[in-house]
Amino acid sequence: MTRKLFVTTALPYANAAFHIGHMMEYIQADIWVRFQRMRGHDVHFVCADDAHGAPIMIAAEKAGLTPQAFVANIAAGRKQYLDGFHIGFDHWHSTDAPENHELAQDIYRALRKQGLIAERTIEQFFDPDKGMFLPDRFIKGECPKCGTKDQYGDNCENCGAVYAPTDLKNPYSALSGATPVLKSSAHYFFQLSSQRCIDFLKEWTQTPGRLQPEVLNKISEWFSDGADGGPTLADWDISRDAPYFGIRIPDTDDKYFYVWLDAPVGYLASLKALLGAQFDGYMADPDVEQIHFIGKDIVTFHTLFWPAMLHFSGRKVPNHIFVHGFITVSGEKMSKSRGTGISPLKYLEIGLNAEWLRYYIAAKLNAHVEDIDFNPEDFVARVNSDLVGKYVNIASRAAGFLTKRFAGQLSADVGVEGRALLDGLRAHGGAVAELYETREFGKALREIMLLADRVNEYVDRNKPWELARQQGQDAALHDVCTVCVEAFRVLTVYLKPVLPVVAAQVERFLNVEPLNWHDATRALGHHTISPYQHLMQRAELAQVERLFDAPPVAALEPGGEPVAPEIGIADFAKIDLRIARIVNAELVDGSDKLLRLTLDVGEGKTRNVFSGIRSAYKPEELIGKFTVMVANLAPRKMKFGLSEGMVLAASHADEKAQPGVYVLEPWPGATPGLRVR
Ligand SMILES: [Zn+2]
Repeated sequence: MTRKLFVTTALPYANAAFHIGHMMEYIQADIWVRFQRMRGHDVHFVCADDAHGAPIMIAAEKAGLTPQAFVANIAAGRKQYLDGFHIGFDHWHSTDAPENHELAQDIYRALRKQGLIAERTIEQFFDPDKGMFLPDRFIKGECPKCGTKDQYGDNCENCGAVYAPTDLKNPYSALSGATPVLKSSAHYFFQLSSQRCIDFLKEWTQTPGRLQPEVLNKISEWFSDGADGGPTLADWDISRDAPYFGIRIPDTDDKYFYVWLDAPVGYLASLKALLGAQFDGYMADPDVEQIHFIGKDIVTFHTLFWPAMLHFSGRKVPNHIFVHGFITVSGEKMSKSRGTGISPLKYLEIGLNAEWLRYYIAAKLNAHVEDIDFNPEDFVARVNSDLVGKYVNIASRAAGFLTKRFAGQLSADVGVEGRALLDGLRAHGGAVAELYETREFGKALREIMLLADRVNEYVDRNKPWELARQQGQDAALHDVCTVCVEAFRVLTVYLKPVLPVVAAQVERFLNVEPLNWHDATRALGHHTISPYQHLMQRAELAQVERLFDAPPVAALEPGGEPVAPEIGIADFAKIDLRIARIVNAELVDGSDKLLRLTLDVGEGKTRNVFSGIRSAYKPEELIGKFTVMVANLAPRKMKFGLSEGMVLAASHADEKAQPGVYVLEPWPGATPGLRVR
């Protein structure tokens, strides 16, 4: 029976380019999807940018863009990665698209109708410096469950606990560093703690095959960890106050869905954008299997909140959640700041073959939630030994003789030994398929390489290069080379989910239609192939190591940081720099960093500017001196008053390592109000 599969990968947050972890997930899902399609199943494979939330709103503001423009810039960069690594999504959407607004609001209305939305006034952290409620991601502190420091306000990266930001110990604002204060506001909650939700989630999570055993184990805590052995599931706060970049909650003026409410709805929105009018009918079909590939960091959202949202809004619930671990590089967890991790784009730019990475990652993946490691030596060894040495080698050893001696024509009957070899290869098709089906890709590739070993042993026993030199051995040579080509075709079928581009080259070389899984079971018979062209280069360690080259600017880094990206004169002209006279300077009560400066910029009135130079100057040293200020900087409301500009001062990027702040001073003769250009 043809399966109907709706497959997604987790929606990447649209505030940064893809990293190697994203590519691992896409490669895993893409291999599974390609395998299903080769089996004749019907797959819709979609994803989208996760566009909403305060982090994007704040990043956009910093970049001087609307959130929509900011997200569009990120989205425009996605294609080169997806195409580059041959990830075959049917559609890529955005959670800010109209389909998502509509679906998220529909789901919310349905949950409200079910009596599962509660309104409560809660106290929430408010940043007194920034004048806004702090988003979870901008409150940091110690995890209330395990005590790990510097955890975000919504969940702990160490123990996976999900909590309210107010549960954090020793909280601080990541925006300003200020200690947040509590302020009340009305919020909406999805009542996950209701018995109805708990009963449903128990049943859904425990349905066999739905979750990996270790995932089920992990989330079972949520049903039994309470004080009395009962559930610890708490109601889920799904609203955020304006200002917020997100989807407006129906029947409110200033409340928005928390980004994690509308993010998974993006799976449906992306499918709806793909299917159009057929979407509702498709999702109503009980035969459709809904499958989400995700990382281990977002299990709670996908195994508790998401299925409950779907079920109680009368929608299809996910059939499987496939969870994978993280990817480390040479044993180290990825970290932008430490400079480990590898850039997928750089991988392509330095000319590394995308299918090497697909193969390498697949060779390491299994059905469990385990981290995998990218190691350069191991990578080179694996690619060269398996792909080049074992697989491609089979074709290159035989194809030349077929073209030169037999006009590319295959032999019709290949003899007992050859038939036995091919039958053996074909007999493993079911086992290899089962391994792909269960995401045991590493085992599948080991199995395929064992089959390749058998073929190479056959070649070594039959020595076509010797047969080619002997008189009267044409028929034997013809058979051996035909067996090689047939075996190579069978192995190509088995490897095609991982190596779609090589498989397409092989299809041209063999003059065959695109290979499907069942093609492995049939012989080509009377058939003519094209001349062989080299299919894959060996990987060189020196080339792979270029992945880890420091960017050239790092060596220079004047003042501890690279020079900012080039700008034109027009960009510079936007900054209005003026000579200012420091009329007065004084300490600021309650701040050990700031001085309050009164500046004359020749405007007939003075300006008030707070400057973080207290560590370097005494107020009396500054009074009467001239300096340079940014005169057209938007005024900034601070705890101590309004700051109407900024004084220019030089410092090292790492002020702790290299202390010192130096206020700029013009040469004698400059007067207040002169423009610096
Ligand atoms: Zn924790």
